[in-house]
Amino acid sequence: MEIFDQYEIWWVTGAQLLYGGDAVVKVDSHSKEMVEGLNKSEVLPVKVVYKGTVNSSREVSDIMKAANNDPKCAGVITWMHTFSPAKMWIHGLQQLKKPLLHFHTQYNAEIPWNEIDMDFMNLNQSAHGDREFGHICTRMRIRRKVVVGHWTDKEVLKKIAVWERVAVAWADAQDMLIIRFGDQMNNVAVTDGDKVEAEQRLGYHVDYCPVSELMEYHKKVKEDDIRRLVNEYFRLYEHKHEMEIPASDEYKSVWNAAHAELTLRAILKAKGAKGFTTNFDDLGTDDINDPKFVGFDQIPGLASQRLMAEGYGFGAEGDWKSAALYRSVWVMSEGQACSFLEDYTLNFNGKDSTILQAHMLEVCPLIAEEKPRLEVHFLGIGIRKAQTARLVFTSRPGEGCTATVVDLGNRFRLIVNDVECVKSKPMPNLPVASALWKPMPDFETGAGAWILAGGTHHSCFSYNLSQEYWEDYAEIAGIEMAVIDKTTTIPEFKNTLRWNEVYYMLNKSLC
Ligand code: MN
Repeated sequence: MEIFDQYEIWWVTGAQLLYGGDAVVKVDSHSKEMVEGLNKSEVLPVKVVYKGTVNSSREVSDIMKAANNDPKCAGVITWMHTFSPAKMWIHGLQQLKKPLLHFHTQYNAEIPWNEIDMDFMNLNQSAHGDREFGHICTRMRIRRKVVVGHWTDKEVLKKIAVWERVAVAWADAQDMLIIRFGDQMNNVAVTDGDKVEAEQRLGYHVDYCPVSELMEYHKKVKEDDIRRLVNEYFRLYEHKHEMEIPASDEYKSVWNAAHAELTLRAILKAKGAKGFTTNFDDLGTDDINDPKFVGFDQIPGLASQRLMAEGYGFGAEGDWKSAALYRSVWVMSEGQACSFLEDYTLNFNGKDSTILQAHMLEVCPLIAEEKPRLEVHFLGIGIRKAQTARLVFTSRPGEGCTATVVDLGNRFRLIVNDVECVKSKPMPNLPVASALWKPMPDFETGAGAWILAGGTHHSCFSYNLSQEYWEDYAEIAGIEMAVIDKTTTIPEFKNTLRWNEVYYMLNKSLC
């Protein structure tokens, strides 16, 4: 994916000069071969660049400072070829601001039983060199991912690939602007929070944009462009033939939706934003019944659906945390099979109880099982009640993972729940996109744990992300993570939340 080409991961080998020049040459050539092997594996989405072997405190500091200063560098992989006395890593690790992965591997896979001698032993010391390095990281409380295994093993490389995707999403979030068109939905607690703390802890910046400014962009959209986009909709999506009749009310609604999409695209581009929120109560002040009315006739639902599919972060009702998280989910998922969703309604059916996931309009078509249908229906919520266009589909069955971030006042908590999407029954009178899922380990425990953790009704879902992604994300961000999976029990989960409370109270730097 294009975004992964903008970044690289640095590989730094640790050694020391004790063993002489020949050893240095060998360490260097092994490192090059290993990095080349990683890049040729076709497992890693981001290129790894060998940045040399470090043999002194000065060299470590220099490379870490360079990593911080290079915007292309999304993270650093370290590996100790020989024993690399770890005091030489202290100053460099104090400097490093980029995500760190410690790879516990070794050049050779098997011990060369017949040839092994003391020279071999002095050169190939990852077994104890990596423990020395691990010790200093732990002593310094350095957050990192530790991956263990041979560098030619694809299962091992997949763990590095996960971290690479998260590291790129993290880098992307450090330069992320989320625009809020309108404010938070009045009185809602869970989707709100501390935007200053979010910028300090998670990197992204949240700005407000008055809808009056948005309407200035709306006025400048050209009719030809709207017509072209309407035709694109008709090409891409199933629809009733009558919808294509320009004099019809349905055509007018589709036209308005295309106009809204072009408006949003223009303003997001002009401001360099990676995500946005909307609010159904703030669509401008014009009277929709006035013949001279210009503006959004309803929330720009179809636009939100299509922009999400392209990677724009989206959160409904001013939910800027979900907008930012969705953008990161999209990056980590490599632009596939993910969506913003909301717990809408429950379906009690004993052990097979499920939760219907939907929204008023805004569900991302990347999770659709079938070709989305373009439909126009009345939407009677919010400041404007009008016929409005949307994509309708259901999600495909399969396992996935949904996540949210909540603000607990003294810290952010990431809550992750493994879920299983199942086939829903037809809902002929509910013309919105939806998913139906069973939270792990079962409906009762999954929903109960989510509520105990203080989780939102909005979440960011992906078929492709596993818990491992979120572990890496929480580690890089330094935020709490509460996991609800097939091993979760309520008593243990409650204890985890209690212990976390103490941990974060004692570790003020993480709050
Ligand atoms: Mn909502």
